[in-house]
Amino acid sequence: MAKRVASVDKKRCAACGACLSACPKGAVSVHKGCYAVISADVCVGCGKCGKVCPAGCITVKERETNEA
Ligand code: SF4
Ligand code: SF4
Repeated sequence: MAKRVASVDKKRCAACGACLSACPKGAVSVHKGCYAVISADVCVGCGKCGKVCPAGCITVKERETNEA
């Protein structure tokens, strides 16, 4: 599993869908048309979603869990 993972600040997300189009892994979905959700199991932490987000509400950081 990748060492980094993206997460969305759903309070600031405008549900524009730009991150869905940018993600090469299909890790992003929009929950009930309200905010983006990133599937941590699929995300490889590449950061492409964060670069295109107009709201700047995606952060990519080290995973907190110590998975083998
Ligand atoms: S960091 Fe990369 S793989 Fe993860 S959700 Fe964003 S675009 Fe997709
Ligand atoms: S690009 Fe940003 S504002 Fe647009 S849906 Fe994704 S997280 Fe939300």
